[in-house]
Amino acid sequence: MHSLDGRKIVVASHNEGKLREFAELMGPFGFEAKSAKDYGLPEPDETGTTFEENAYIKALAAARATGLPALSDDSGLCVDALDGAPGVYTANWAETPEGARDFAMAMQRTEVALQAVRAASPEQRKGRFVAVICLAFPDGEAEYYRGEVEGTLVWPPRGELGFGYDPVFLPDGHEKTFGEMTAQEKHGWKPGQPTALSHRARAFQKFAEARLAAPGPA
Ligand code: IMP
Repeated sequence: MHSLDGRKIVVASHNEGKLREFAELMGPFGFEAKSAKDYGLPEPDETGTTFEENAYIKALAAARATGLPALSDDSGLCVDALDGAPGVYTANWAETPEGARDFAMAMQRTEVALQAVRAASPEQRKGRFVAVICLAFPDGEAEYYRGEVEGTLVWPPRGELGFGYDPVFLPDGHEKTFGEMTAQEKHGWKPGQPTALSHRARAFQKFAEARLAAPGPA
């Protein structure tokens, strides 16, 4: 198993929301974590059909281009009444004809799909956010950490915090959507604390427990 002793890692993403959350999660561990964007790397095509495949494509491209270990996240929203859609195509559902991303439109599209299958009650609107973190090395060695959080799709969207589909996702056992939660509420986690809430933080927690030494004082 390769080590991370060099304490340098590339976060293989161009997504500002994910990069912000990774910076907050990595913060306590004393890693120099630059992003694929900082290195000016192109975004590889996500041609996989699973979160694992797409996470590997992104992490391997960044590891090969920089010669450093790379950490990627492939994530999405899986809605039961839509047979798991949008799933690995969650980001694609936000793409406009001009090639931009519009998440208000993506949330609306999800709602239209739910109404088309007459999913009206909270029980019929169950789903989960999934995140697969891949740690890949330039020689192709890789490992995976998966986090999931169960919840209900609400309409209309609530809250302006977070990113992506956060305003329509109400995690089980909570009264606020992810869009109404602070960063600390959504993904705050430190070693020794109980399980984190968000899918990304849960995946990161597994990665940190397997791979990162205890952080210095907060
Ligand atoms: P990908 O991993 O680059 O394929 O993109 C995943 C997409 O899922 C993002 O563009 C977001 O729209 C959505 N997504 C993933 N994680 C979150 C989250 O924590 N909150 C809201 N949306 C998310």
